[in-house]
This record gives sequence, C-alpha cells and structure tokens, in this order.
Amino acid sequence: MPGRHFLFVPGPTNVPERVARAMVVPMEDHRSPKFPELTLPLFQDLKKIYKTKDGQVFLFPSSGTGAWESAFNNTLSPGDKVLMSRFGQFSHLWIDMAQRMGFDVQILEEEWGTGVKPEKIEEILRADKSHQIKAVTATHNETATGVASDIAAVRKAMDAAGHPALLFVDAVSSLGSLDFRQDEWGVDLAVSGSQKGLMLPAGLGVLGVSQKALAASKTATSKRCYFDFDDMIKANATGYFPYTPPLPLLYGLRESLKMIEDEGLENIFVRHSHLAGGVRAAVKAWGLTPCAKEPKWYSDTVTAIVVPPQFNAVQVISTAYSRYNLSLGAGLSQVAGKVFRIGHLGDLNELMVLGALAGAEMAMADVGIPVTLGSGVGAAQSFYRAAAPVKAEKA
Ligand code: PLP
Repeated sequence: MPGRHFLFVPGPTNVPERVARAMVVPMEDHRSPKFPELTLPLFQDLKKIYKTKDGQVFLFPSSGTGAWESAFNNTLSPGDKVLMSRFGQFSHLWIDMAQRMGFDVQILEEEWGTGVKPEKIEEILRADKSHQIKAVTATHNETATGVASDIAAVRKAMDAAGHPALLFVDAVSSLGSLDFRQDEWGVDLAVSGSQKGLMLPAGLGVLGVSQKALAASKTATSKRCYFDFDDMIKANATGYFPYTPPLPLLYGLRESLKMIEDEGLENIFVRHSHLAGGVRAAVKAWGLTPCAKEPKWYSDTVTAIVVPPQFNAVQVISTAYSRYNLSLGAGLSQVAGKVFRIGHLGDLNELMVLGALAGAEMAMADVGIPVTLGSGVGAAQSFYRAAAPVKAEKA
C-alpha cells in the first residue's frame, strides 16, 4: 500500500529514524579493545531508566520472555513456592513458565480488567509464617487488557507482612514509558524487552537485578547456562558478553537512550499519560468502554477497547489492516474477539495517535459498529488542545 503503515500494536513499537540509522553499522569484533566503549556506558545509562543505583542491569540476546526465564532460574530452586497474580494473557504466560520450570505456583486469580491486589498478597504473606514463599510476582502493565498495577503498593504490602520474598516485576510494556522505580519500590528482578518503550526491534531481554536477588543467585540451584548471571557478571565487568551480542541492537540502544535523555524520562511519562488521555476520550465518545474496569487500572501505554457483544473485534482489526494500513492489537485468549487494542507507547505524538483513532473509527463503522464518524477523533482533538502536556523539570 502507498503511504506509511500505522503501527499501533503495543509492541513492537515504531523505531525512530535516528535509532534505525544508528543500527546500520558494519559488524565488528565484539572482543576488540574498543568494544567496551560502547557497552559500559549502556549498562550505566540503563540503570537510570530503571531508577536503580544499587542494582545491576543485564542485556540478554533474547526477547522479554528470555528475561522472565533468567529471573526465575537464577534466583530460585526447583520446587520453590512462588505467589503469582493472573489477570491477563501475559501474567498467565508467566505463570505457565513458572509451572513448566518446576516451581510450586500459588495463583491469585483476578478478574481480567483488574490487576494486582496488594491486600491479598499481604494476607497470604502474613499467613506464611515459615517463609515458604520465595518470590512474589507482579505484572506492572498487563498489555493484554491495558491494566497498570501499583507496584509501590505491592512493596508496601510485602513490608507490612514482614516477609522476605523476592519481588519480581514484569516491566515489559512499562519500562521507559511509565514511571518505574526499582530501588524505591524494592523490586528485586524487573524484566523488560527492547521493543516497547526503548523503541528498538525485539532482540534484547533487559533485566534490572537488585543486590538481594544477586545474593539469592549464589545459592539458587535451578539449572541455567545461557542465562547464567554469573557468566554475564564476569564478562560484563570489562564490557564484554559471554557470547556474541547483537551489535546493531546495542548501537540502537545507545541512540534510543540518548533520545530518552534528550526528552527527559519524566517528560516521557507525561507525554504517555497525555496521549493515553486522548485515546480514552475517544473511547468514551464512541460509547464504548476500556477493558480496564476502573480508572485506577488504566494503562497509559495501551488501551484495550471492548466492542459491543454482537460484534467480533477480529473484524475491526482485519478491516483496519487491509483497508486502512493500520495495525491494531488483537484480543488474546479470554478476550479474543471481544477487544481490540491500541498501543500508545514509544516514539509517538498527538497526530500519530489521531491517525490511529481515525482508522479505528472507520474500521468500526465499516463492520457495522454504531460509532459516529469523527466522534472519537473529535474528542481526542479537544482533549489534546485543552490539555497540552506539562513539561516536567529535567533532572
Ligand atoms: N510481558 C508483557 C507484559 C508483554 O507485553 C510481553 C509481550 O508483549 C511479554 C511479557 C513477552 O515479551 P516478549 O514478546 O518480548 O518475549
């Protein structure tokens, strides 16, 4: 199709020109004396994105799923008890992984469209007097339903229970887009990937690890090899990798981190919140509802929109794709056919979002959903005009 494709899935996100160009590099020797000049600053700069001074960041050549796995097998032993909340496809897949890796998973089932319930976690941890539970997991941003959970409240609940379990957080669709504070929130393992807020192609599994988690890795007995923290720590200390790293992605990361620095992390959070406000104004004007049940669950990086029950969201997505050159996110598992998703994270501005809203609006009208053309776009335009994003002070 002529013109440019509108990529509005919640990852992979648009790769900015600057980053794309930075990745066009000749291959080089990843054992050369010069290579650490690229890598050592990357590790330091990523710590700023995680807001950790004490922790260590790892970059695995994998997607976010690989970073999930590395978090588990480095810090836990077979049969260890893990408390995990399920309220969407990604929190489900993380549980599935933990079970397949041989951990004893206690599942907190939450309604899809809601998120982590710290009060329930506190109650369970208080009852676990002998500290059998070794880890608590929380999906910061459930990309399948557009739900953001309060990680600071999870930490508070764990502290109130006086429980020493590790806190694992899935920050795949939040890191670099929603505020994330590894040290302040006492997050021990924060898992992410390159293809969302970091504005890169998929291919880097990113992990922020606390000193407590590094200490746990010394005694954990799960088998690991490719994802072994120890091998990474030894090689990374001098700026190298235990295997061949994906060079273009590392150069791309250097550029995307520069872009983040230029805009300012806090400004990026404000921008995401502003763009999300416009999307939610459009959803309301269409007479539809987000899958997220209450405002406290609303995600500023992705909105899952529930279509009326007599319609199939798959048709909206396929019409948007084939007729308007627009990629919307599909509903997954429990919400397949019931929702379509608009990803609003990464390198985006108001007019780009308005384009996606226009396409979604036309696709819905084409399949017979009774939306008034212009209603959602108009509501978002009014929102954007009335509420220009307030720039945060640069740190
Ligand atoms: N967790 C969340 C919240 C996600 O959104 C995704 C992917 O979209 C994943 C985990 C899995 O990451 P990946 O596809 O990079 O392996």
